[in-house]
Amino acid sequence: MEDRVLVDILERAVGPEKTRAAFDAFSLPASVSIRLNPFKWPFGEDGVNLVRRVPWSEYGYMLDGRPRFVEDPLFHAGLYYVQDSSAMIAGHMLRECLDLVSDSGRPLMALDLCAAPGGKTTDMSASLRERLGDDFRIVANEVSRLRASVLRDNVAVWGDPNVIVTSCDPKTFARLEGYFDIILVDAPCSGEGMFRKDPRAVEEWSEEVVALCSARQRRILADVWPALRQGGLLIYATCTFEESENDANVLWAAAELGGEVIDYEYQSLPGVLRTKTGALLMPGLVEGEGQFVSVLRKTSPSGKTRLTPDCLRPLRNGLVKGEVKGRDFVPDPDWALSIDPPLDKYPSVELDRETALRYLHRDSVFVEGQPEGYLIVLHRGCPLGFVKNIGKRWNNLHPLNRRIRIDI
Ligand code: SAM
Repeated sequence: MEDRVLVDILERAVGPEKTRAAFDAFSLPASVSIRLNPFKWPFGEDGVNLVRRVPWSEYGYMLDGRPRFVEDPLFHAGLYYVQDSSAMIAGHMLRECLDLVSDSGRPLMALDLCAAPGGKTTDMSASLRERLGDDFRIVANEVSRLRASVLRDNVAVWGDPNVIVTSCDPKTFARLEGYFDIILVDAPCSGEGMFRKDPRAVEEWSEEVVALCSARQRRILADVWPALRQGGLLIYATCTFEESENDANVLWAAAELGGEVIDYEYQSLPGVLRTKTGALLMPGLVEGEGQFVSVLRKTSPSGKTRLTPDCLRPLRNGLVKGEVKGRDFVPDPDWALSIDPPLDKYPSVELDRETALRYLHRDSVFVEGQPEGYLIVLHRGCPLGFVKNIGKRWNNLHPLNRRIRIDI
C-alpha cells in the first residue's frame, strides 16, 4: 500500500493533526497484550511479567515483546487470553452499559454473533460472571465452521460453563425473536486496524472491499436485529477506521431498524477518540491496534419467542462433565479446565514445566507413586487436564486437536 493511501485513510479517521502520530505508529511492531481469567488466575500481579494495565480493562495488561505463549503451560490452562488491548474496549462498554439491561427477572441472555476466535466472548463471560454470578447465558456464534471449532476450544479452555457455541448464519437468529438482552456484533470488516498485525489486511484492502464490508455489515445487523428484545443493547464493533463501516452503519441501524445510540463519555478514556456514535482507537494514540465500538439500544418492538438456543444445534452446549462407558465414568477433558474443576473428586498431581509441556504435546508422561484411575494434572497448581493411571503408565487424555504441534 502506498503511503499516500494510508495517510488518506488516517486523515479521514482522525484529522490532519493526529495523522502524523498514527502514521508513525504503523511502522512499529504490533503491540502485545493479555487479559487474565479472573476465575482462574491465582497469582495476583506477582510472579509474571505484567507490564502496564490496559486503562479500560481491569484484567488487561500490555506486555513488552511477545513471549512464546505456546511454551507456557498456563496459556493452555486458560489462565489468560492473548487479546489486543484496543479490542478490550468492547468488554468495557458491556460492563459500563450492563445496568441498562439487567434485572429482567430471568438469566441475562447474550449473543456474540461473530465470535471466533473468542477474545470478546471470553471477556464477556468473565464480566457477566463477575457481575451476575451464574445468572446469564452466552451464545457464542461463528458462521465459519472451521473458525467455530477454534472458538469451541478457546471457550472450553477459558472454562465458563455458561457459554454455548453455535455455528449459524446470522439470519438463523431471527427465529429467536426478542430473545437476547445483549447482542455483540464484532463485524467482519476491511481490517485497517490490523495493518500492523496482519500483512494480509494491507494486501487485501481496497475501496471496493470497504464498500462490500459496509453492505455486508448492514445485512448482518438487519438479520440479527429481530433477536434483540426491545430495550436490549447491541454492541457494534469493527477493527477499521472507515466511516462507512462504523458511524454510518450505526446511524443507519438506529434509523432503519429502530434504535437509539447510547451517549457515553468515551473521551475520558486515555487516547480514545469520540466519533459521532462511538469510540475510535488508533495505533499511535493508544498502545494497541485499531478498533471502533458503539452501543445501540433497541427502541422498536420485538416479538416473543418460545424457542431456546438448543434449536441452533450447538457445537458445545455448556459444560459436559463426562460420559458413562460401561461401568466407568469417563471425565471430559474440559471438566478439568472449567472454572470449577473437580479437584475434590479426583486426585491431582503437580507437573514441572517440562513435563507439563510434554503432557500438552501429548507425549507419554508418568509420575510414580500416584493412585490408579483418573488424575488431574496441574502446573503451578492450575489444572491442565486428565490422565488415567493404569499402574505402570498413564494414558494421556489431553485432546488430540488441542495438543501442542510444534517440537518442544
Ligand atoms: N469477535 C472475535 C474475537 O473477539 O475474537 C473476532 C471476530 S472477527 C472481527 C469477525 C468474524 O465474523 C470472523 O470470525 C468471521 O468469520 C465472521 N464472519 C465473516 N462473515 C460473516 C457473516 N457474513 N456473518 C457473520 N459473521 C461473519
